[in-house]
Amino acid sequence: AMVTRFAPSPTGFITIGSLYATFISERLAHQSDGVFYLRVEDTDKKREVDGSIADMIDALNQFGIDIDEGPTTLKYESGEYGPYTQSSRVYIYNVFIKELIKQGLAYPCFCNSNQLQNIRDFQQTQKVTTGYYGQWAAHRNFTLDQVKEEINDGKPYVIRLKSPGKITGRVIYRDLVKGDIIMPENHQDIVIMKSDGIPTYHLAHVIDDFLMGTTHVIRGDEWLSSIPIHLQLFEVFSFKKPEYGHIAPIMKMDGDSKRKFSKRKDPDAAAKYYLQEGYPSEAICEYFMTLISSGFEEWKMKHSDQPYSNYNVDICKMNVSGALFDINKLNDISKDFVSRLSAEEVLDRVLIWAQKYDIQLYNLLTKDKDYSIRIFNIGRSSSNKPRKDIAKWSEVKSFFVYFFDEMIDSPTSRSTGDLPKTIPYGIAKQLVNDYLEVYDSNDDREQWFEKVKDISEKHGFARDMKLFKKNPEDYQGHVGDVATILRITLTGRANTPDLYDIIQTMSDDRVRNRLIKFSS
Ligand code: GLU
Repeated sequence: AMVTRFAPSPTGFITIGSLYATFISERLAHQSDGVFYLRVEDTDKKREVDGSIADMIDALNQFGIDIDEGPTTLKYESGEYGPYTQSSRVYIYNVFIKELIKQGLAYPCFCNSNQLQNIRDFQQTQKVTTGYYGQWAAHRNFTLDQVKEEINDGKPYVIRLKSPGKITGRVIYRDLVKGDIIMPENHQDIVIMKSDGIPTYHLAHVIDDFLMGTTHVIRGDEWLSSIPIHLQLFEVFSFKKPEYGHIAPIMKMDGDSKRKFSKRKDPDAAAKYYLQEGYPSEAICEYFMTLISSGFEEWKMKHSDQPYSNYNVDICKMNVSGALFDINKLNDISKDFVSRLSAEEVLDRVLIWAQKYDIQLYNLLTKDKDYSIRIFNIGRSSSNKPRKDIAKWSEVKSFFVYFFDEMIDSPTSRSTGDLPKTIPYGIAKQLVNDYLEVYDSNDDREQWFEKVKDISEKHGFARDMKLFKKNPEDYQGHVGDVATILRITLTGRANTPDLYDIIQTMSDDRVRNRLIKFSS
């Protein structure tokens, strides 16, 4: 069983990229009957943004990512490894820091900012990239009396790790995603406790990953450069280190080229953007699965009735380079997912979405729920290959708006501009009039179509395509044109789902009213 974690700093919102890494962490834990927990890494109080953790958890919930353990203050059932918020764990870190100092592996550093700048300048002018930080800081070897004196003088200090350094100067390590990596060793005496008494991220996360039993750390590869420091810390404490997998950032298409998402500038960089657009969360997760595992799509084709979670991800087989987040591909997957839902399920989901983001749609759909279900059933119930048209709930309104009188009667939504060019308005009117006379809502599909054919013939349109193709000059057009006229009359559009289904769905009154309106 794997133990993985989501360890956000409360500094903003969750991006689609960090959702991706978090999704992988959760899958690894739960597919192995392990634990996926939340740890709040709030050691940098200056950068904290109010409410950001609650917001991230809300996003995870909405994407169906279950957290097993986490801070009780966030209404999660606390596990046995808490507290799960780093600012509440300072007393724990202090024990470890004291121990390091006692063993001579860490020391208080009283350098002020001027002195630190001098050190940096020296390193730069001398082009020194190796060598211990402490070589320039006498504090590294202060006696206990010297330390006491500085503290009694009220000088602020940080605690630094005495970087042990090794002969080779290299760190060799095997990343779950990226494979074997050789990196320069860390030679700096890094700060492990800041002057406010709060430990740094590096120290806290190493202690926590150990104490909380993390077996696998999956995170963005912006953390890869910290690996030498993290491994060094695990070694200093003689802790067993977790396995690490670093994931390249998700890319987006920008014109013809790929680029990283910009957290600041791209609205679609935020995970919540996709919920606002009304993508079903499962579609996003299924899309993630295809990005993680090349075998997933084939599996899904054979097991379309099974949830994605039945497929086990293998992080070691993941692509090393950054996956392209292809919105067209996502749309296809989402349409596929929506097409497998029942009309009732679609309505439920659309309503939940609309209540938050489109109250007008919500009101339309709740007025007569049976009617709404019938609308969503078009092309769904009658065939075993359901229509794939809706990818996200924000598209629903434009797809189905014509089913609602209050929407279609607005002047812009109704147009005759789509009428087949060759057919004069007067003739269209006569066709509609004739149809109105024979229309019977009890007709089955065949009876209905016979009537449309008869009307076509009467007005000089071919009864079927074959006839028309043989002698096009003999006809005004063909039965398809007549159907288009009826379609436009009833829906205001030339392109819709099956016309017979629409007529049956709209019900007698509505159909008659619209036919009358057009032909009078
Ligand atoms: N707190 C870090 C972040 O905000 C977590 C890094 C890690 O997962 O180790 O991304």
